[in-house]
Amino acid sequence: MLISSAEIISVGTELLLGDVVNTDAAFISRRLAALGIAQYRQTVVGDNAGRLEAALGEALGRADLVILTGGLGPTYDDLTKETAAKLMKRSLVVDERTLGRIEARARAFGFEMTENNKKQALIPEGSFILDNDNGTAPGIVIEDFEKGKLIMLLPGPPSECEPMFHEKAEPYLRRFTSGVLVSHTLNIFGLGESKVESILREIMLASENPTLAPYAKDGEVQLRVTASGIDTAECERLCSELIERIYSTEVGKYIYGIDAGTLEDALVRELIAQKKRIAAAESCTGGYVAKRITNVSGSSEVLDGSIVTYANRVKERFCNVSRETLQKYGAVSRQTAIEMARGVRELFGADIGVSTTGIAGPTGGTPEKPVGTVFVGVSADGFEEVRELHIGNGLASREKVRYISASNALHLALTALAAIKNNSKEFLS
Ligand code: ATP
Ligand code: MG
Repeated sequence: MLISSAEIISVGTELLLGDVVNTDAAFISRRLAALGIAQYRQTVVGDNAGRLEAALGEALGRADLVILTGGLGPTYDDLTKETAAKLMKRSLVVDERTLGRIEARARAFGFEMTENNKKQALIPEGSFILDNDNGTAPGIVIEDFEKGKLIMLLPGPPSECEPMFHEKAEPYLRRFTSGVLVSHTLNIFGLGESKVESILREIMLASENPTLAPYAKDGEVQLRVTASGIDTAECERLCSELIERIYSTEVGKYIYGIDAGTLEDALVRELIAQKKRIAAAESCTGGYVAKRITNVSGSSEVLDGSIVTYANRVKERFCNVSRETLQKYGAVSRQTAIEMARGVRELFGADIGVSTTGIAGPTGGTPEKPVGTVFVGVSADGFEEVRELHIGNGLASREKVRYISASNALHLALTALAAIKNNSKEFLS
């Protein structure tokens, strides 16, 4: 049998009350999409046998695969298994292997086997078992190949549900899906989601395979290209055709990587590739640029250091920003930003210096330089640039101004590295 569509039923009164966020459904949905299994509907139902039975019956009327989470535990309100078994007319029998696993877990964790634990080894006759490596209740698949229906029962706690789905359920489900799915993410910086959408609207509407979907995240846009086909090679070919088309549009020059991860991941990778080292002079970001670079393992190979030059006299003393510049243009200015970038590059003997200086708010703004006015600079051999930012029209939070400023500094460093690479290519040719 092939699964053409799935539904998720999340069981638990705590979900209906809003006490617990339904992360299981979000997780499973993402994985189903990656498996190429369509999902058109989701249900949340409380711990009530009658309503659960009704919901399950309806879902089975529409979908081939119904995944239920929660209510597999040993307590009285856990009734998912009993309800599903009743609906499918299967009696509950002890699964000796599962009983053995629960007993072994009880010994290992030093808890006493109760009648309730033994109840967890009861499974609807003839079911397929998904072992639980992180808890007691096994996952269960009630299979009805005649009608082409599968009911999958998974434990509620995310620490059990997620690894079980990923490690046990996915390999099982692959038997019932055809072909493969490949997806790539284009990382875009400097262009808003709606702008990206408006440029790519035609392509997006026309793209069925691969599909093209934009996601906005932390001031960046990601474009996910997903192809389905008979094998990986075919999917890769379909993806690269579409990716090439996207590169040829206005969006192309804002793409900083494919499957690049975060800006800091991309930067560290590129610095390593080009054997270059970076240093930062940070005013309004207060170390955020360095923090994000050092989030990446391997950054010690490429980061010399960062200095938080908050006070003007520190900008002067350590980054060699001239007093005249500070007096004439102010600390938040194009001129100060570039002098900071040059100065810190010199100070640390780095290949690339980046700088940030701006007004993070919520106070300190003026009519000429409102909150969110930030200058980000970069200085490298043969490449210097300053970016003037106006983040959030004076309305962005302090955190947001600082985060976006740091993102721009990271991106500007990437831009410098790209320019250096292009120059050396021209030089070689
Ligand atoms: P247990 O053996 O712990 O009783 P169970 O399979 O019976 O597991 P539930 O009793 O329904 O699962 O839920 C246990 C806990 O798991 C809930 O209190 C909640 O914290 C979490 N949980 C349940 N369902 C979800 C869900 N859909 N998303 C996120 N967390 C959930
Ligand atoms: Mg429970």
